[in-house]
Amino acid sequence: MAPSLPRRARAVIVGGGVIGVSIAYHLTKLGWSEVVLLERKQLTSGTTWHAAGLVGQLRQSINMTRLARYTSELYRGLEAETGQATGYRQCGSISLATTPGRMEELERNASMAKVFGLTVEVVSPKEIRELYSLVNVEDVIGGIHIPSDGYANAVDITNALAKGARSRGAQIFQDMKVTAILNDGRRVTGVETAHGRIEADYVVLCAGLWTRDLAASVGVTVPLQACEHYYVLFQNVPGLHPELPVLRDYDHCSYFKYDAGKLLVGAFEPHARTWGTDGIPEDFAFGEIAGDFAHFEPVLIDAMRRVPALGEAGIQKFFCGPESFTPDVRYHLGESAELERLFVAAGLNSIGLQSAGGVGKVVAEWMQAGHPPLDLWEVDVRRNMPFQRNRKYLAARVQESLGLLYATHWPYRQYETARGARKSTLHDRLAAAGACFGEAFGWERANWYGAPGTSPRYEYSYGRQNWFEASAREHRAVREAVGLFDQSSFAKFRLEGIDALRVLNRICANDVDVAPGRIVYTQWLNERGGIEADLTVTRLDETAYLIVSGAETESKDFNWLTRHIGPAARCVATNVTSAMGVLSIMGPRSRELLQSLTPDDLSNAAFAFATSRSIELGYALVRASRITYVGELGFELYIPTEFMQGVYDEIVAAGARFGLVHAGYHALNSLRIEKAYRHWGHDITDEDTPLEAGLGFAVKLDKAAFIGREALIEQRARGLTKRLVQLKLESPEPLLYHNEPIWRGKEIVGFIRSAMYAHTLGAGVGLGYVSWPQGAGDALADERYEIEIAGVRYPARASLKPLYDPKNLRIKS
Ligand SMILES: Cc1cc2nc3c(=O)[nH]c(=O)nc-3n(C[C@H](O)[C@H](O)[C@H](O)COP(=O)(O)OP(=O)(O)OC[C@H]3O[C@@H](n4cnc5c(N)ncnc54)[C@H](O)[C@@H]3O)c2cc1C
Repeated sequence: MAPSLPRRARAVIVGGGVIGVSIAYHLTKLGWSEVVLLERKQLTSGTTWHAAGLVGQLRQSINMTRLARYTSELYRGLEAETGQATGYRQCGSISLATTPGRMEELERNASMAKVFGLTVEVVSPKEIRELYSLVNVEDVIGGIHIPSDGYANAVDITNALAKGARSRGAQIFQDMKVTAILNDGRRVTGVETAHGRIEADYVVLCAGLWTRDLAASVGVTVPLQACEHYYVLFQNVPGLHPELPVLRDYDHCSYFKYDAGKLLVGAFEPHARTWGTDGIPEDFAFGEIAGDFAHFEPVLIDAMRRVPALGEAGIQKFFCGPESFTPDVRYHLGESAELERLFVAAGLNSIGLQSAGGVGKVVAEWMQAGHPPLDLWEVDVRRNMPFQRNRKYLAARVQESLGLLYATHWPYRQYETARGARKSTLHDRLAAAGACFGEAFGWERANWYGAPGTSPRYEYSYGRQNWFEASAREHRAVREAVGLFDQSSFAKFRLEGIDALRVLNRICANDVDVAPGRIVYTQWLNERGGIEADLTVTRLDETAYLIVSGAETESKDFNWLTRHIGPAARCVATNVTSAMGVLSIMGPRSRELLQSLTPDDLSNAAFAFATSRSIELGYALVRASRITYVGELGFELYIPTEFMQGVYDEIVAAGARFGLVHAGYHALNSLRIEKAYRHWGHDITDEDTPLEAGLGFAVKLDKAAFIGREALIEQRARGLTKRLVQLKLESPEPLLYHNEPIWRGKEIVGFIRSAMYAHTLGAGVGLGYVSWPQGAGDALADERYEIEIAGVRYPARASLKPLYDPKNLRIKS
């Protein structure tokens, strides 16, 4: 008999793996009724049924660790709550280090875990042997032990979550494939199945491997691709017992887990094999794939050395199953940029079981509140560029993604696959000048320069990497003479029309009702006063604006802009990122250099800071904007793409006389950090307000109403509880990266959001929020601060004002 589907629902969840079911569980926990989950075959039949069952908590960032930690807490109590066994066991976990770099990574992570009280013990080889009697530690330097980690049975967890969801009214339909996503062009309206249509306020895509194509059918970008993922079950392992912790041998790509009387050995090999690139068979359910034993064998050989008892055991099962991986090994969560109320939770990169609790909770809360409950930008589906659903790109990149789970997370590590997707028109010229390119959102960007004519390469470490001195030279040249940055990857939008001013002034916290030719630095805020975007807005004429933002947020910011235009407003937004390249000429001699190439007057009197105008340069007309992200006199040149090469050639030819150097993004970052310029996504996010971030100067509370104004007025009256400070280490030696805990006296009061070595200040410098008891004055910044790096605390000087050029004398010179 055909099942009778409801005709409408508040939320339809597509996919009955652990992720979809967890969202149903959490929505009903929030009190949602009319929650319907549709699964094309049976619950868990996609990837979930064959998860190995590891439930770890420590991730590479603070908020991802929070999600994983919540998952563990949830699983711990799920059986008692639902009456359904989950197989959850808190056995602890051990991660091994066999190289100094890995040991430093583990120690840095152990320090990060202190920010929210997760106990992570740094352990010696001897202690590891005591905890895990089967392990061979002859090449082990040390490791970490997390006593509260564990494992669970993925099928049982899914069934327990389903039971909890059903008990609160959720309806779950199996053998019910969603054949189409319905929408009115702006908003999702429901789903179609072979058994009829359901109208819905919200649709959530949790369709695992299938999500990319399902989303693409309505123009939504969810870049993921399935790869083969392997494990082997050993039986009759001497000495095996259920209390053994989970063991991770990152440097040899393997993990070990007790599994119902057997030992499961899984692999995260460096070069994975893609699966299903031509589509997934329609009948694929509880499916295994043949895999290639020879591909897994090198990991197995190392595993047998790590746990010698495997040599006396027998292989009971060799398993290979598909799992979806994403280009940056982060999952895709949240409301899509393209269709309102279409949510996504997919691309779990083989950590779906240990993520499901946290993912279910935050996605449900996001749907309820209309915004993420904490800063989730690193996994926000809106970070993706449309080109990233290109199958050739995905197939190339995900072969690297899988291995990155266990690779050492070197600072500044660059992807090696799917390179060259987006290039500035200057790419080949910069390469000839010695550029070492990094990849950001598909763009190839010069991070640093070696000698002209060479092809420099990264040598990674946690210490000073091989580009440190080269970047220091670029940094100093910008401070002392002049540097050239290719910043063509900036996102650039035009907003034009009679209502452009009205629309923008409602979105911007600063006042953009300025004379044509003025540049306004502003934030876009949400209703809570949190910072959604950080950008410059240039008034081109009475009815036209140029909006410039970072490359990373191109999709998100354009989406924010267009969603706030409103149907009645008479203005049009256009993404002109590809139409213009950007050359930034920065440094005290930038004016002299450019003046030698243009008849237009660039003097301070004629061309003031924060103004912009069209000037002649070479054979081109370019827009010169006197603005800076490095804290020096300088000009950003916005150049029609086809004129880029000619203008660049003229500047470089004239530049030698003025000491012009090519400078890369690493220098840009060290320059901006010592000037304490904030970076969106790190130092400022949707959970930080401009008042907390020290950006109150860019907020005009007394202009016409704008989004976030009331929240800021309220916060100002209430007083701040955290403030952004710049911190400089007293010792010139240690290097800061991010996530290091900040101590004030005996208390951890925050953590570093972004950091870099500051070559002019001569030490590691970071930005981070510290708790600020209400009523505490600015003098709190003078207290004794320390930053913990890999277990050692280093004294640091805090400042509310930039330590470099606090009076802005250089940028206005
Ligand atoms: C070998 C292996 C070992 C693993 N080990 C671990 C581990 O130890 N720890 C860990 O945390 N993670 C592990 N994982 C990863 C984990 O299993 C996954 O991340 C997780 O199961 C993904 O869950 P999901 O709900 O996103 O996807 P799925 O479980 O694939 O669920 C998606 C569901 O959507 C359904 N669907 C698709 N299209 C439609 C449609 N049109 N209409 C209706 N339904 C649809 C599918 O049938 C499927 O059931 C492992 C993965 C593998 C392959």
